[in-house]
Amino acid sequence: MEHHEIVIIGGGPAGLALALELHTLGLKDVVVLERELEAGGVPRHCGHFGFGIDNKNRFLTGPKFAIKLRELAEGLDIRTGTTVLEFTLRGTMRLHSASGISEMSATRIILATGTRESSRAARLIGGNRLSGVMNTGTFQQLVYIKHQKPFSNPVIIGSEWVSFSNLLTCRHAKIKPVCLITENANLDAPSYFGIGARLAFGVPTKRSTKLVSINGHEKVESVEVETNGHRETIACDGVIISGKFRSENALYSSGFIEQINTAPLTTESYRSSKPNIYAVGNVLGHLETAGACMLQGRKLAAMIATEFK
Ligand SMILES: Cc1cc2nc3c(=O)[nH]c(=O)nc-3n(C[C@H](O)[C@H](O)[C@H](O)COP(=O)(O)OP(=O)(O)OC[C@H]3O[C@@H](n4cnc5c(N)ncnc54)[C@H](O)[C@@H]3O)c2cc1C
Repeated sequence: MEHHEIVIIGGGPAGLALALELHTLGLKDVVVLERELEAGGVPRHCGHFGFGIDNKNRFLTGPKFAIKLRELAEGLDIRTGTTVLEFTLRGTMRLHSASGISEMSATRIILATGTRESSRAARLIGGNRLSGVMNTGTFQQLVYIKHQKPFSNPVIIGSEWVSFSNLLTCRHAKIKPVCLITENANLDAPSYFGIGARLAFGVPTKRSTKLVSINGHEKVESVEVETNGHRETIACDGVIISGKFRSENALYSSGFIEQINTAPLTTESYRSSKPNIYAVGNVLGHLETAGACMLQGRKLAAMIATEFK
């Protein structure tokens, strides 16, 4: 079986920065496994500005940032189109790629698999399954990567900064959201985001408002919401369900490493409850900036390098 000293699962900002720094520190037997056909992680489909290498000068759009990251990582052993299906505590992994199923083993495995938004199912929203309901990540991929316009007048659920980022994606695709809806009395993002949404985008924010159901036949036609006991139907043709991020835990959900919520429990040196397994970046359960995840990756590389001295 193919064996490597270090295998990093996930080629986003955290995984790539980690691989790069390990290489710089002299550790060359490092492989990055990435399920997408291109490395770069979430920034690949965030078409707005706000990204910077190592969190400096955050003037790049996500796709430009991802290109820059890939350029920095050129020459490293990055295997795209390769999904890790499972791994064991002995360090063996089962992989899927275009050439089928294969196995690999590693002395150290590093989880850099990022986060994802909570699904509609996890949020217990009523109504039938309809096209036009998606999270921010899917919406961005449709708009920025596939150049599609999945709806014209959606409602946006959530008030985190990622929820407001949907306004930029909507503007890019000439989509006019009806409103933002949040269950909370106060926005999760700073309150000026709400003012900006109204003044710059003409999109009102409804607070203390719960999405009860999504209605329609084949496509979304309306949502039913409840504000302080008062029910209302809002016409729309799509729903963006945003935020409430949770770690991408499919690989360890069976519980063989200890977790907090769905994130791996780690020490300050990013080591999980098993000594040969580490975790870094957004998989740790916080939605950090891409540059902050890079810095975590670099920090972990320095710590691993000391173990080889
Ligand atoms: C809508 C949105 C807007 C954002 N805007 C900004 C911004 O303006 N500025 C900023 O700095 N940050 C922004 N961020 C945050 C930034 O994108 C993240 O902090 C960063 O991408 C996290 O890096 P990561 O490497 O931890 O995870 P990710 O970028 O999520 O990368 C994880 C990688 O792991 C891969 N993977 C997962 N499971 C497997 C598996 N089983 N096998 C193989 N590969 C796997 C995934 O395909 C992915 O490429 C934004 C995030 C979102 C969602």
